Amino acid sequence: MTTRHDEIANALENVQDRVLVAARNAGRRVDEITLIAVTKTYPVSDVAILRQLGVENFAENRDAEGAMKSKEVPGTWHFQGQIQSNKLNSIATWADVVHSLDDMRHVLRLDRAVPKGKKISVFIQVSLDESPHRGGVEALGLAPLAQSILESTNLQLKGLMAVAPLGENPESAFARLALIHSDFCQQFPQSTSLSAGMSNDFETAIAYGATHLRIGSSILGSRMDLL
Ligand SMILES: *Cc1c(COP(=O)(O)O)cnc(C)c1O
Repeated sequence: MTTRHDEIANALENVQDRVLVAARNAGRRVDEITLIAVTKTYPVSDVAILRQLGVENFAENRDAEGAMKSKEVPGTWHFQGQIQSNKLNSIATWADVVHSLDDMRHVLRLDRAVPKGKKISVFIQVSLDESPHRGGVEALGLAPLAQSILESTNLQLKGLMAVAPLGENPESAFARLALIHSDFCQQFPQSTSLSAGMSNDFETAIAYGATHLRIGSSILGSRMDLL
């Protein structure tokens, strides 16, 4: 009988191997790529197993789940879900990184909510299509948001985040993202990070410069997708 530990260990190793191959094929160094395990909907016992296996970066889409799991398992905790402004005070207490900033009001509120002595790293989410349901600002809206992050006290601008649109081939979506990111870096040279790539498209994302991969189901198995 395979235990949950072995199951996760095997899946994780498989993903890590694929990351290595994709990085090599893209002529990139694997140490510039951070694998973030997306643990949303999975039990905290799975997070503890991942931690034992050496994973240190975890992401959640919901405040309550992130708050609970981050209390149990130490690590670098990422928030990547749609932001509800009444949750920002809580998110600021447990999240080290926020991937989904796409609204000026959230920048100001999050900055004020960061506990004393803490800094939160942030990605601005850019939308790669017209449909707003997956979040993100259009490319033209990036600069004002970046400017307000630079003027904040407690937020550090890391770069851009995106999700490949449903129904578009990830190759063309991430090619577009790479162009947007390189333009953005001309204006905001500290924004070298690019958060892109999920279970179904992370190899393509690596080919187009992703530095932060957000991977859930390839590591933890299929999930009831309620989010
Ligand atoms: C759920 C989710 C992921 C992980 O998706 P998988 O397909 O399980 O790898 C990554 N990014 C965001 C924004 C998500 O909501």
